[in-house]
Amino acid sequence: MYDFAIIGGGIVGLSTGMALGNRYPDAKILVLEKESRWAFHQTGNNSGVIHSGVYYKPGSFKAKFCRDGCQSMVEFCQQHEIPYEVCGKVIVATEERELPLLENLYQRGLQNGIKVARITAEEVKEYEPYVNCLAGVRVFSTGIADYKRVCQKYAELIQKQGGDLRLNTKVEKIIRTEEGQVLETNQGTFETRFVINCAGLHSDRVAKLGKVDPQAKIVPFRGEYYELVPEKRYLVKGLIYPVPNPAFPFLGVHFTRMIDGSVHAGPNAVLSLKREGYKKTDFDLRDFAEVMTYPAFWKLAAKHADEGMKEIIRSFSKAAFVRSLQRLIPEVKSEDLVPTHAGVRAQALMNDGKLVDDFLIIKGQNSVHVCNAPSPAATSSIEIGKAIVEQIPAQQHLQSTLNV
Ligand SMILES: Cc1cc2nc3c(=O)[nH]c(=O)nc-3n(C[C@H](O)[C@H](O)[C@H](O)COP(=O)(O)OP(=O)(O)OC[C@H]3O[C@@H](n4cnc5c(N)ncnc54)[C@H](O)[C@@H]3O)c2cc1C
Repeated sequence: MYDFAIIGGGIVGLSTGMALGNRYPDAKILVLEKESRWAFHQTGNNSGVIHSGVYYKPGSFKAKFCRDGCQSMVEFCQQHEIPYEVCGKVIVATEERELPLLENLYQRGLQNGIKVARITAEEVKEYEPYVNCLAGVRVFSTGIADYKRVCQKYAELIQKQGGDLRLNTKVEKIIRTEEGQVLETNQGTFETRFVINCAGLHSDRVAKLGKVDPQAKIVPFRGEYYELVPEKRYLVKGLIYPVPNPAFPFLGVHFTRMIDGSVHAGPNAVLSLKREGYKKTDFDLRDFAEVMTYPAFWKLAAKHADEGMKEIIRSFSKAAFVRSLQRLIPEVKSEDLVPTHAGVRAQALMNDGKLVDDFLIIKGQNSVHVCNAPSPAATSSIEIGKAIVEQIPAQQHLQSTLNV
C-alpha cells in the first residue's frame, strides 16, 4: 500500500513527488509514467524558457507560481549544477497598434513584481542588434534551462527519498476500495491511499477514471519549430518575443536561444488531430472525434476563426512562418531555417467554450487532479508541486505512519 501515487512523469508529476518527499520523508511514494523515459511529452518538447511571469493576470496562480517559480528554478539549477542562464528577454512592438499592448505588458510586469524596463528601439538593438521594432520591454529575470535535466534530477531526488518510480506503466483504471484506491495498469495493480493526477495531455481522461468531472476537456495544440542554421545563430543573442494577442493563450512565434546554443523559432499553435501528435499527419480517431463532437470547441473556433486560420497557414507554409519571424528580424531568410522538433500543449477548454486561463487543480475524494498546467508550468513546477502538497490533508499521511 502506497501513501501517494502520482500518475504522470512529466515535470509537474515529478516536482510533486519531490515536494511530497520533502514534506513527508517517510511516506511511500509511487510515480507511474506510461512512456519509457521521463519528460517524454510536453516537458521534453518545450522551449526551455524560465519565464518571469510578465504576462499573467495579477493574482492568478500563473502570476504567483511563475514569479516564485522563476526564482526557485534558478536556485534549483544552481544547487544541482544543471546548466541554465538568466539571459533576460525583449518583447518588441513592430506595429503602431501594438504599442498600447506593449505598455499594458510593462504595467502588468510591474503589478506582478517583476523587474521590467521600457526600452527604445535603439536600446533594443543593444541587446538584439538585428531586431527591427518601434519599442520594447526588457524583462530581466527570464532565463533558459534544460527541463529534461531538471526532471532527471527531480526523479533522482524522489528515488533517494525511497520513492518507487515506474516507467512503461500506464494507468488504465482506478478502482475505489475501503482502504484507498487500486490503480490497474499494463504492469499489474498498485494500491494507494491517495492519487495525484499529473497526466498532462490525458489529465481530463485520468480525472474521469477517478470519477472526477473537470467540466473541461483537453484540446491539444501542436507547436512547431524551426531552427536557425548554425551560421545564422549570431542573429539572436537571447530571447526575442513579439507582443502577443491578449485574446489568445499563446505567445506568438518567437526566437529562443536554447541552453545548448542552438536557436529555435516558433512555436506556432495548431489544433493537433492526435493528443500526442507531433507530426502534421498524425491522427487518432478517438482524439479527433472527441474534439469535433465537443460543442465548446466550435464556440472557440468561431471566436478565433481568423487567428486559427493564420496558424494553419503558418503551419503549412514555411513562407508564412518566415514572414512572421521577419517582423522581428528582417534579415532572416527562408534558407536560414530548418524544421526541428514539435511539442503539443495540453490546453483545457471549458464546456462553455472558454479556454481555462489559469492553472487548474481539482480536489477529488482522496485525490488531486491537475487539469490544466500549460506554459509556464515547467518554470512554475517547484511551486505547483508545493501547492499540490498543501492541498493534501495532513491526516492522509498520519494514517499511514500509524499503520506502519
Ligand atoms: C511547445 C511548447 C513550448 C513550451 N514552452 C515552455 C517554456 O518555455 N517554459 C515553460 O515554463 N513552459 C513551457 N511549456 C509548457 C510546459 O512544457 C508544460 O506546461 C509542462 O511541461 C507540463 O508538464 P506536465 O507534467 O503537466 O505534462 P507532461 O510533461 O505532458 O507530462 C505528463 C505525463 O503524463 C503521462 N501520462 C499520461 N497519461 C498517463 C497514464 N494513463 N498513465 C501513466 N502516465 C500517463 C504522459 O506520458 C506524460 O509523460 C511549453 C509547452 C509546449 C508544448
